[in-house]
Amino acid sequence: MEDRRRLPEAFCMRMEGLLGAEWNAFLASYDENRYYGLRRNPLKSSAERFMEQMPYALEKVSWAEEGYYYGTEDHPGKDVLHEAGLYYIQEPSAMAVAQILDPQPGERVLDLCAAPGGKSTQIAGRMRGEGLLVANEVIPDRAGILSQNVERMGIKNCVVCNEEPERMAERFPGFFDRIVVDAPCSGEGMFRKDETAVEQWSEAHVQMCADRQLMILREAAKMLRLGGVLVYSTCTFAPDENEGVISRFVEERDDFVIEEVPHDTAFAPGREEWTAQPAPGLERTMRLWPHRLKGEGHYIARLRRSGRKEEAVSDSVWSHGRISGGRDRRRTDVKQKKQAEVLQEFLVKELGLGEDWLAEQRGRVELFGEQLYLVPEEMIPVQGMKIRRPGLHLATEKKNRLEPAHALALALTTAETDRSLELSQEEAVRYLRGESLVCDSRKGWTLLTYRGYPLGFGKASGGQMKNHYPKGLRKSLF
Ligand code: SAM
Repeated sequence: MEDRRRLPEAFCMRMEGLLGAEWNAFLASYDENRYYGLRRNPLKSSAERFMEQMPYALEKVSWAEEGYYYGTEDHPGKDVLHEAGLYYIQEPSAMAVAQILDPQPGERVLDLCAAPGGKSTQIAGRMRGEGLLVANEVIPDRAGILSQNVERMGIKNCVVCNEEPERMAERFPGFFDRIVVDAPCSGEGMFRKDETAVEQWSEAHVQMCADRQLMILREAAKMLRLGGVLVYSTCTFAPDENEGVISRFVEERDDFVIEEVPHDTAFAPGREEWTAQPAPGLERTMRLWPHRLKGEGHYIARLRRSGRKEEAVSDSVWSHGRISGGRDRRRTDVKQKKQAEVLQEFLVKELGLGEDWLAEQRGRVELFGEQLYLVPEEMIPVQGMKIRRPGLHLATEKKNRLEPAHALALALTTAETDRSLELSQEEAVRYLRGESLVCDSRKGWTLLTYRGYPLGFGKASGGQMKNHYPKGLRKSLF
């Protein structure tokens, strides 16, 4: 039996009181090995192709369509296919959140607390490149990591913001069809996985987290359209951060109801008796217990805002973000138009993309400084916002010429260009380390692939393939 002295005593006292007869099974789960999971990226491969190509023994996670367990002896995070964005390493219970959110292609979806990107990348896979995903992270460094993961997974329709929830709510009132708040929490559900979560735990921290979670939910609610869906999740067991926060929120916002959602039979209902003033329907929220399923602890609630989409405010309220008007605006438009023409020529002549490739993309080309992006169609003007990534990074302007962006390489398929070169595993590992390769391919930009999946660009000249894998991403896999 687990020595409870490894866990905070006040935590043990509380959980023993709450769980009663189940306490021993709960405590014993800390003796067991944790489970390791990865999630297939549907933007890159079908389930069949994925299973054929993955060199690991995988077992399905029952509650997430794209989720699998892998063995403790395997290291899929150190694999070329990982760098190609074929999959995302994710704790299995965490995969339930996007499944419950159930985003659809063509919708506007917000992930308000998004770094490092587990939920966002899963949501993007479900949206299949159609519609708008806004992934926001308040901490700048973490927003950078989020952006990298969005790029690695080849996601085109995602904007990455780095804002406080209040600022987001000012810019996107009633805008989104679905919102996920995967809230910062006391992390009790990660005690088995993360030693620092144990060290940082205190009752005062739990209370601080609960108040912060309510504040974040209030802001999220302002951004949801009538009839929209809001999913709240934590990786903690504390009732104050789970049933307690949902009850306080629904008490304030009686236009939100807790929804019944089809879910895995291993999930347990939320506990209304664990909070002083329970909201109606708390038993429809879900608790994932480590002693009842193969994953860590989580809590998930799905709420729906009453009303119908048709009654929502008109889109015109979102035009307030535009800051340049009149002559400035026209000058910018002319520059952008010229830039789009130069870009079109570059994509066709130098990257070997089809004449229609750019026109077929769901977005508009915009220039930010020297950077050209494909901004998703549905995105509001970004001026005045802290944006990490306004859409798919296409190219960088360098002294009258263009250089393709790494993000573009990851978002392409080999079928879209006639300038690709398949690398052996050894070459791919050397490319990811930043080395130049010997090659006899035609001069110019080349999309380098491994097992058919793009890894990045190289530039061939005189029998050498110059390495354009971004310096900040270079790594040694072995
Ligand atoms: N959804 C992420 C995923 O699946 O990869 C995990 C999110 S993590 C549980 C919570 C995130 O909330 C952290 O990245 C944290 O930096 C961010 N956060 C911290 N304080 C915040 C605040 N006041 N408002 C919004 N987000 C906050």
